[in-house]
Amino acid sequence: MAKAKKLTKGQHRRIKKNLAEKLNKSKQEVWQDSELGDAEQGIIISRFGQHADVKSQAGDIVRCNIRRTVDSLVCGDNVLWRPGKETKHSISGVIEAVHERHSLLSRPDVYDGVKPIAANIDQIFIVSSVVPAFNPDIIDRYLVATELTGIKPIIVLNKIDLLSADNQELIDRHLSLYDEIGYEVLKISSKHQQGLQAIEQRLLNQTSIFVGQSGVGKSTLVNKLMPELDLVTNEVSEMSGLGQHTTTVARLYDFPSGGHLIDSPGIREFGLWHLTPDQVDQGFIEFQEYFGYCKFRDCKHQDDPGCALQKAVEDGHINPLRFASYQRILASLGSNTLTSRFK
Ligand code: GDP
Ligand code: ZN
Repeated sequence: MAKAKKLTKGQHRRIKKNLAEKLNKSKQEVWQDSELGDAEQGIIISRFGQHADVKSQAGDIVRCNIRRTVDSLVCGDNVLWRPGKETKHSISGVIEAVHERHSLLSRPDVYDGVKPIAANIDQIFIVSSVVPAFNPDIIDRYLVATELTGIKPIIVLNKIDLLSADNQELIDRHLSLYDEIGYEVLKISSKHQQGLQAIEQRLLNQTSIFVGQSGVGKSTLVNKLMPELDLVTNEVSEMSGLGQHTTTVARLYDFPSGGHLIDSPGIREFGLWHLTPDQVDQGFIEFQEYFGYCKFRDCKHQDDPGCALQKAVEDGHINPLRFASYQRILASLGSNTLTSRFK
């Protein structure tokens, strides 16, 4: 590891000067009460450092400063904000407060432990496909991550136009297993616009994200559902001059039929981050009633004698396919191969 170097006096001075300048600048942008209109409700479209784009109830996108008293603000947050009577340094309002969130998506962060990336998501569409080969381990891994957030998952099989005698049986077996556990499963072909109505129905009045390994057809699907997406993106970059942020920062879009999509490259990778063995246990919902009943407290649920999970499999209460997937996910945690394969 590189040794931390001591700062020279000159560096100290420069840092101090920069800080003073920063403070000065933010002082200039402090809004007086008389410069602001009445408080309104809004929703955060995107957050960029000290600023955020708010969608007003009238449907306008307003770039706002964030009050220092607001300690966490992400895409999807419902906020109370006040419009400025004029625009200062391209900022046209102030975010005063954030409403309580009913869900929060976070990702591991080297500095902070976890970093919130989006709020108030209602459902996560876990997209899988016929080609690249249907992979139940990946779906189970996404299900674990989704269960930990408390957000409802919906499993989507895309590219059903590519189903054949070779792959159909295996896929059907797994999908009916998810159905038995209680997960909703939708079969679609984005390319041939099959089954998209069922997805549209579920999007209505909900905030959704689409996750899934690269190549399963998420972009194709989103473009079919939201053909004017480009247009929306362009409008924002024209207004703010900060279009480059829209590719990396989580952003909220409106579906034409109602409902919101939150999307970003980071959001799409949600679920492939590091998990602990405990989290994997929690994520297999139909196993929950058997945990705690193994003969040995440190049971690894492999070949251990008196394993309650093994017994549940033998008795037909836990499906052997899910149990095998559970064991493979646990075994993969150290090696991280599951994550790296899809980068
Ligand atoms: P993403 O990485 O999940 O965003 O996947 P893309 O949307 O980029 O799609 C990957 C490839 O799959 C592209 O070549 C798409 O044309 C193709 N694709 C997407 N949906 C379908 C489908 O329903 N059927 C078939 N046959 N191909 C599809
Ligand atoms: Zn056990």
